[in-house]
Amino acid sequence: MTSQPSGAARGRLVLVATPIGNLGDLSARAVETLRDADVVACEDTRRTRALLSAVEIPGRGRLRAVHEHNEAEAAARIAREVADGQVVAYVSDAGTPGISDPGARLVAACVDLDPDMVVTTVPGPTALAAALVVSGLPTDRFVFEGFLARRGAKRRAQLAAVGAEPRTVVIYESPLRLRATLDALVEVCGPDRPAAVARELTKLHEEVLRGPLGACAALAAAAVSPPRGEHVVVVGGAPTPADATDEEVDVAVTAALGEGLSVRDAAAMVAVELGVAKRRAYTAAINRRGR
Ligand code: SAM
Repeated sequence: MTSQPSGAARGRLVLVATPIGNLGDLSARAVETLRDADVVACEDTRRTRALLSAVEIPGRGRLRAVHEHNEAEAAARIAREVADGQVVAYVSDAGTPGISDPGARLVAACVDLDPDMVVTTVPGPTALAAALVVSGLPTDRFVFEGFLARRGAKRRAQLAAVGAEPRTVVIYESPLRLRATLDALVEVCGPDRPAAVARELTKLHEEVLRGPLGACAALAAAAVSPPRGEHVVVVGGAPTPADATDEEVDVAVTAALGEGLSVRDAAAMVAVELGVAKRRAYTAAINRRGR
């Protein structure tokens, strides 16, 4: 556990969330932080310069590129600047840094150099939360998959995990791969699993398609041209199997005892097989033995 001193050390790293499409979503605190920082580290200096100029913040030679190709080395340099007392604001191209974007290594480099270094955030837009909350699917428990692997065993394993996942799953996807991913999801989840495809969130052409996965995939397949813009796929969780009835538990323990298992072993086996509490299977086995 580390504590973050408030105000004692001037140097700090601030992860600043930026709009995912609508400039109006840049918060007042984000503007203030970007205006006052000694260094503005960013994924793409051209893009961030455009963002700063849109809100009339001068770049003043404060911009430094930290992207996925130089993150390790740039992160070490920035961590030293923070240790030297600089205030460094980090922004990714859009949304929240570190969410399917660089940022995590920068934080790790700072806390590795000095566990008491101040690392803080100006939270704000992220497509993950925006898509989840408009999906109409349960939001109480969810899993963020980010981008699925493009091919191979890793992709198959990720898809299988989505198929079995009982919580809502949020997946980022590029427009070029959307159709293939929806088809693959239908294969592992079945066509009836509820889903939503959110497109161009917060932008002029925002759209949210809600319906069974099969219908979402069919619509994407029927489109004359590949979809445009940025997309998030949200998939409802796999239905949990109905609880075994008392009769089913009784039949299973009877069979297990009939195979010569002890009450304890029969109960343990049935508990795993039917996904019921061990105590329930044990009671059923004792009752059966006593009859
Ligand atoms: N850091 C970003 C965030 O906090 O959401 C995510 C960056 S990731 C490189 C880009 C992906 O986020 C896109 O391919 C898309 O899946 C999703 N995305 C970003 N903006 C979006 C938007 N306005 N509408 C829908 N999806 C969006």
